[in-house]
Amino acid sequence: MLHFTCDLCGRSIEHERYIARVEVGPAFDPDEVSPEDLDVDHLESVADSLDQLESTGDFEVENCGPQKFRFDLCPHCWQRYTKDPLGRESLRRLKFSQN
Ligand SMILES: [Zn+2]
Repeated sequence: MLHFTCDLCGRSIEHERYIARVEVGPAFDPDEVSPEDLDVDHLESVADSLDQLESTGDFEVENCGPQKFRFDLCPHCWQRYTKDPLGRESLRRLKFSQN
């Protein structure tokens, strides 16, 4: 028998399992080059990042493309998630605690 655990709280999910599907990606065409992209400063910055690419090697092209996530959620976390899918509430709390 398949056993699921909640991706948020880690509790095992008995019957009521909810799935959150999240897809994020660029809303523009990354391959499209506009005239502004061709000015010299931009090309220089591209050359800079290419230098960084060679020196650090931690640049990943896949990160630019669409990404899909799928989370299993228990009823409790699903309700919390639908109220605040981007975690803005906890982000706000984090900012307050830093002050
Ligand atoms: Zn949960």
